This record gives sequence, C-alpha cells and structure tokens, in this order.
Amino acid sequence: EAARRELDCTLYSMVGEDLPFSTHLESLETARTWGFKISDAIALCRDMEEIDAFIRHWDTARKALPFATDGVVIKVNDFALRNRLGFTAKAPRWAVAYKFKAERALTRLLSVDFQVGRTGAVTPVANLEPVLLAGTVVKRASLHNAEQIALLDIRLGDGVYVEKGGEIIPKITGVDLGSRPEGSRPFEFVARCPECGTELVKYEGEARHYCPNQGHCPPQIVGRIVHFISRKAMNIDGLGDETVQLLYDSGLVADAADLYDLRREQLAVLPRLGEKSADNIINSIEKSKQVPFARVLFAIGIRFVGEATARNLAAQFRSIDELMAATTEELVAAEEVGEKIAVSIADFFRDETARKLVARLREKGLRFEAEEKALSSDALDGLRFVISGTFARHSRDRLKELIEQHGGRHTGSVSAQTDFLLAGDNIGPAKLTKARKLDVRIIDEAEFESMIAGGTAVAETPSRSASSPVSAEKPQKNEAAEEIKPVQTSLFE
Ligand SMILES: [Zn+2]
Repeated sequence: EAARRELDCTLYSMVGEDLPFSTHLESLETARTWGFKISDAIALCRDMEEIDAFIRHWDTARKALPFATDGVVIKVNDFALRNRLGFTAKAPRWAVAYKFKAERALTRLLSVDFQVGRTGAVTPVANLEPVLLAGTVVKRASLHNAEQIALLDIRLGDGVYVEKGGEIIPKITGVDLGSRPEGSRPFEFVARCPECGTELVKYEGEARHYCPNQGHCPPQIVGRIVHFISRKAMNIDGLGDETVQLLYDSGLVADAADLYDLRREQLAVLPRLGEKSADNIINSIEKSKQVPFARVLFAIGIRFVGEATARNLAAQFRSIDELMAATTEELVAAEEVGEKIAVSIADFFRDETARKLVARLREKGLRFEAEEKALSSDALDGLRFVISGTFARHSRDRLKELIEQHGGRHTGSVSAQTDFLLAGDNIGPAKLTKARKLDVRIIDEAEFESMIAGGTAVAETPSRSASSPVSAEKPQKNEAAEEIKPVQTSLFE
C-alpha cells in the first residue's frame, strides 16, 4: 500500500553527537552522497540581502514544487556558532522560520450553518461557492462568531475573501464591497439553538454565543462523549464520532458512564459494527479504567480545563474529593489556574448532572485519585513550594519534579500556605514582595539542593544571600543543558 502511494521522504538534518562536519550544508551534502534524498531548495546565504532574495524567489517558485509549503527556515550554517547560540526552553536560537503570506481567493457566500459544539458554543460556518485555494477546492469556511461577522459586515450573497492559514479550516478575512448585491441586509445571528431551540446566551468577556441547555442539547451530549473517549482523554479505541452518534441515537448511551454498561451483543448488531469490532470496543472500554486520574479529570470535560491544567490539578489536589472541596483561593493557588478556570471548576461541581456523572463513573471503577509515586525521599514531606525566576543548574520542570520526588508540592502563586519560595535569577517582583509580606522563607537553588540531599542546612533567616554549601558527594552536573535535546522544531520542513 505504501509503495502504491509513492510516499517519499526528504531529509533536512543529520543528528548525532560529535558529527565529523563543521557545517550544516557539509553534513547534508555528505548524506546526499550516501543516497539520502536532500532538498534542492537549499542555498547558502552570506548576508541578509541574500536571505531576502531567497525568500522572494521561493514565494513564487514554491507554487511549482510537487508538494505544499508555507515558509522557509533560515539556519546558522556553522556548527560551532550553533553551539555557542544554544537553545531557549522551546527552540534553537540558531534557526528561525519565515512564513509566506497566506493565499487568498475571492468567492461568494451562499449560506451560513450553525454548529453546536460540546461546550454549547455555537460556531457559524459559511457555505461558499466552491473555489480553488492553495491546491484544494474550498466550499466551507469558518466565520468565528457574531462579533467577527459584524466587524467585517459580512452579508449573505457577498463576494468574500477566503484565506488558508495554519488551520485546517479556511477562514473569511474580508468582503468585496464592490460586488455586494443590492438590497442586502446586515447578517442576523440566530437567537435560538439550531439543535434544541433553547435561547442562546453570551457570557461576559466572550465573543461566542452558547446554548445553555447542557443536559439535553443532543450535539453537546454527543460532543462530550466524543471528547471523553478521545485519545488524550480515556483513549477508547474503536469508537469513533459516528459510532458514538449511533449509540446515542439508538438510546444505548446517554452519557459517558453508560459506555461502561454496554454489552458485546448490543454493539455487534449495530450497523457497520461486526463482532470483532464489538470485542475491541468492549476491551478498550474495560482498559480505560486504568487511565490515570489526570486524564480522567480532562475527560469529564470541565470547561477551560485542558490537558495541562488537568495534570496540574491532579498533581495539586490528588483526588476528585479534594478538588471538589477546594475553595476558590486554593484553586487559584494551583499552577496555571486563574480566576476563570477556578469559577468554571466550581460551576461544574455545583451542577447536579455533572456530580451524578462523576459518582457513576466512580462506581464503574474509574480512577479518581492520583496514584502515589515512589518517592526518592521524604525530605520535603508536606512542604509547599513556589518556584520563580531562572536557575543555573536545573530547569524549572526539573525542580518541580524534584519537589514531587521528595514528597513536596509546588503551586503557582505565593499564599499563606506556602512554606518556601525557591528563587532564581530575575524573580518576579510581585512574588518576592508577597513572600516577604507573608514571611515565606526564600531559598536559592543551592539551599534547595541541600534540603533534598538530606542535609538540614536550611538557612535560618528568610534571606537568599545565605547560601549553604551543597553536599560534597553530589557532583555538580549541568542538568539544564542535558535536558534540552537538540530537536528540530520547525513546522515548515
Ligand atoms: Zn442546544
């Protein structure tokens, strides 16, 4: 199958330690002599003018390439210079991406559909006269929200400009007023949910309209189940969007907990599902009971609680009971949790339907508690840390890991519960002031290391100038440098 599709691969970097080359270009040219495919759209530029000329050339020439591309990557050629430049936490300092201006096409807006998502958000979708754009025929485009439509004054029948940016769905970016049909009227956004008829609402500070009928609006129910089974949530294999819709329509599943009551015979008789896929689904549902708490928390679909937030919440609160009992102040103190998320969490658990769902999922055996990790020591048992600034020897993520490994906890902001502020360089002045006001002990990296080394050498006074010696048997390694791996992060290659 792969051969039939004529798949191909063009390589753009040689990776390894102590490569016997002094430049990027040299390494690629050598790889080419070994038989690897290397792009011909590469040039060595000696100054900014040559880089500009290269970009200008490929802005048009790229349209003749046998593949789609939307940018150029400019890299430092000299490996020694690259080493000196190094990396930021996210990307190399020796490479930068240039993105071409998105292609644009003019077409006509025929009609607008309204889609209701799992959160109840109503998204207007434009149906367009089919138009060729960057190699594909575009028939639909996102209109974002009512404000955006009003801002651009988009009307039915208008000639509209569509652009394809980084997103999969193209968007409408402007109106050709010259071709506006006579007698057209400003566009009116629907007042009621197109799916369940409930009057739409707008929340403060949000541009979108929502259908507030969470409990009974079909696409919201189905959307929540689809989110629940998705790969990053419960990862239930074999159940796609269509099957979930089918299960909902046939009355077998009305919420995520119902999945755990499904029997093989019920699935096997559904259209397009055989016995084998029914088995797969049942096994996969059973297996999902082992999914860790953080992902279960993501799966239950609390508004604004994404994957990372769920992870932070799980690390901080350890169980659904602790999370449900948390006050707004405690929630906001958690890593990367702001007022908006805290309010949303409180709203979620106040909702009767949501509480019942959690109770039922728990009955089915899903994990609502974080598992206890094997600790390296209990040196920091029960202590709460806040990390701020940049550090010489460890990355912040590594410091968080170390705190957890030794039985401590870390939170995002300083509060009366904070025991230590672990302060690096360029520490936020607000954090420092608050820590001083609340008499939180301020320590530096070296003091922290001696704490986890089992040493008792914690400074007596809340001052970061008193740095205690690091225990001698621990060799000083530059872990920060080791942790950052030289990976190519560009989107364009
Ligand atoms: Zn609705």
